[in-house]
Amino acid sequence: MGKRHFGWTLALGAGVGALLASGTAAWAGDREQAQATVDTRAAVEQPKIIAWRRDIHEHPELGNQETRTAALVAKHLKSLGLEVRTGVAKTGVVAVLKGGKPGPVVALRADMDALPVTEQVDLPFASKVKTQYEGHEVGVMHACGHDTHVAMLMGVAEVLAGMKDQLPGTVKFIFQPAEEGLAKGEVGGAEQMLKEGAFENPKPDAVFGVHVISTLHAGDVGYRPGPFMAAADEFVITVHGRQSHGALPWTGVDPIVTASQIVLGLQTIESRQMEVIKEPSILSVGSIHGGNRNNIIPDTVTLNGTIRTFDEGMRADIDKRLRRTVAGIAESAGATADVDIIKGYPVTINNPELTAKIVPTLQRVAGKDHVKLIDKVTPSEDFSFYEQQVPGVYLFVGITPPDADLSKAASNHSPKFFVDESGLIVGARTLAHLTVDYLYGL
Ligand SMILES: [Zn+2]
Ligand SMILES: [Zn+2]
Repeated sequence: MGKRHFGWTLALGAGVGALLASGTAAWAGDREQAQATVDTRAAVEQPKIIAWRRDIHEHPELGNQETRTAALVAKHLKSLGLEVRTGVAKTGVVAVLKGGKPGPVVALRADMDALPVTEQVDLPFASKVKTQYEGHEVGVMHACGHDTHVAMLMGVAEVLAGMKDQLPGTVKFIFQPAEEGLAKGEVGGAEQMLKEGAFENPKPDAVFGVHVISTLHAGDVGYRPGPFMAAADEFVITVHGRQSHGALPWTGVDPIVTASQIVLGLQTIESRQMEVIKEPSILSVGSIHGGNRNNIIPDTVTLNGTIRTFDEGMRADIDKRLRRTVAGIAESAGATADVDIIKGYPVTINNPELTAKIVPTLQRVAGKDHVKLIDKVTPSEDFSFYEQQVPGVYLFVGITPPDADLSKAASNHSPKFFVDESGLIVGARTLAHLTVDYLYGL
């Protein structure tokens, strides 16, 4: 209540002009009051966020298996009085918080899955979990920090639920499984969440998300408008030659020499054919398999690699050039080749207008010196699927201790990945303030 109520009461007696003027001024007062409420409530939330994060960190679950995490999330959201849907894309949880006044819909997303990594950080709540992964026993660790994403968003839900009368609009909380990808044949993650209606009833007008990152200090927030994270596609090339004696190469077709030429030929796509000043792109061959002894030229060689791009047109173009290069080189040797390109996540593109509009919010939350315009990064992210549906911004939140050398910090996915938990309150406040500012109008 407060200022807005007072303003409208006054205005009603003073005619339409005064009503509009008073209404606008009072609206601004409401916004400031809501922002102040976020900070007061977030401060109370901080120890809870850290406690949830430690609990989830100690009990990590691989993609599509996040049942314990999802149950914790759902129980919490229900206790806040939200409408909660569970079992979306297997373990996903979607909850809706209706504010006290009409307005737009903002979606906030956290991913819940851990990685098959054996933790090497000395913490009382370090993961000791082991599981089976692709036929091997592996450790399980929140080595990408998704435990912090879940905890921050649980905190944000509590902050906003407790001030819903002050919210002019609706907030959708999306806790999704399996961001890190799945074994062949399994479906999941953001794409599956969307297929199962995560963005329906109501459809969001905007989506925000954060990822903790070792390349920024705790307290810092990183943003980038436009293409931000790469599309990641995998390729498998099988070169078919004709097996022969190693001493008699003219009696066969050598797929090892042909595959070697293909490796080099593929690099000329990047170095000679792509317009490097437009967007960067990367093509790496990560494995070559063929043959089993010194004096046999084998029948086939398999190449496996990855392509990273920041533009959907260039992505499609490299796909064509790769196929053409492989076919041409194979033909020149009298060999044949099969090419299989397995599409990964699209380019993560932050809506440029929306990104520009939220920078003042980021600066207010983190402090001007702590908001960094950062470079593109070559990993990929399935948040990209949400940003294909509605304008969105994906941000990085620092978690490396402020006095530590960033260049030496263990990266995300490392068994030594370490989170300075003081960064989490900045991430949670960022999401809560973005929501409030978006609902009041950026
Ligand atoms: Zn990751
Ligand atoms: Zn991640």
